[in-house]
Amino acid sequence: MAGRSRVFERLDELYAIGGGPGANRPLRSAEEDEAHALAAGWLRDAGLEVEVDPDGNLLGHSKRRPDVWAGSHLDTVPQGGKFDGALGVVAAIEAVERTGAGSVVVFRGEEVGCVGSTARAARGPLPAAFLELHIEQGPRLAYADAPLGIVTGVVGVSRGDIVVDGTAGHAGTTPMDARDDALVKAAGEILRIRETATTIDGAVATVGRLTIEPGAANVIPSRVTIAVDARAPDRERCQRLIEAIGVEPYYRTAPADMDERLRALLRDEVEARGLPVVELASGAGHDAAILAAAGVPSAMLFVRSLNDGVSHSPDELSSEEDVALAADVLASVLSRL
Ligand SMILES: [Zn+2]
Repeated sequence: MAGRSRVFERLDELYAIGGGPGANRPLRSAEEDEAHALAAGWLRDAGLEVEVDPDGNLLGHSKRRPDVWAGSHLDTVPQGGKFDGALGVVAAIEAVERTGAGSVVVFRGEEVGCVGSTARAARGPLPAAFLELHIEQGPRLAYADAPLGIVTGVVGVSRGDIVVDGTAGHAGTTPMDARDDALVKAAGEILRIRETATTIDGAVATVGRLTIEPGAANVIPSRVTIAVDARAPDRERCQRLIEAIGVEPYYRTAPADMDERLRALLRDEVEARGLPVVELASGAGHDAAILAAAGVPSAMLFVRSLNDGVSHSPDELSSEEDVALAADVLASVLSRL
C-alpha cells in the first residue's frame, strides 16, 4: 500500500503542535507561531522566497506569477479540526511547488475575524488574484456525491445583541402571575429569531450566548442579553434579515461574490476530471471574502467533508483521494493564470 501523501503527513505535523485534544492554534499563540515557522520551512524547501509582512502573514513567492496567491490560514478555534485552514495552506504549497507558479499565503487569525487578511487588505500590496482551497465544513457535497465544490460567494455575517429587560425578584416569594422574568421573555425572542431566519431563502440565524443578570439560581432574571449571529448570501437579504430580527449589528462583514473568470476556470478543471460540477455559497466567513471585498478577484474550491460535515471539531475529516483531486485542480488553475 502506498504511504500517506505528503499533504496528509504535513497536516498531521501541524495537528500535533500543542499536543491536543484537537488543534489549538489561536491567533498570536506560541502554537500559531510554531505552525507558521513549520510552514516557512516548507516554503523554503519548495524553493520559494519567504516574506513575513508587518502583520505577521507569511508568504512564499515563486518566480512566475507571484502576484497570484493561493492559501488560507493556520490558526484554529479551540479544539479544532485538522483540515480547516491548514488544508488550504498545505495544498497551496503543493500546487505552487508543482507548477512553479504563484505565491503561497498564510494569513494570521482567520478564526477571530480574519485579522491577518483584513490587515493586509488595508496595508497592501494585494495580489492580482486569490485562490483558497478549503474543507467545506458542511454536508452538502457529501449529499451531492461530489468530491469538490466551487464557491459562488461568501455570506455576509452580522452580529449584534438584543437586550430583554424584566424585573428582579425573589425566586421563592414572587407569585408566578406577578413575575416579569426577562429570561422567559428571551426564550420567546429566541424562537422568533429562529422563525424569522426560515422566512428568508438562504438565511440563517443563531443565538449562541445569553448573558443573564443578576445570574443567580434563586433570583428572577432582570435582564438578558441575547447574542445574535445572522447570515445571508447577499446584501439585500442581509439587510432584510437584520431588520426582521430587529438587531443593531456591532460587527458586520459584507457578502462577497467570487470572481466569474476564476470560477469558470475551476469549473473547467473539475469537469475535465469527469467530476460533477457543484456550485454553492459558503455559510462560513473566509479570507477570500476579505480579499474579494478589497477588489481582488478571488475564488474558493471546497473539498467534501466526511462525518456529516462536522467542523471546528477533531472529527472534521476529508479523504486523501478528495484532497489529492483538489490539490490537482488548484495546480491546474494556477498554471493557467
Ligand atoms: Zn477556515
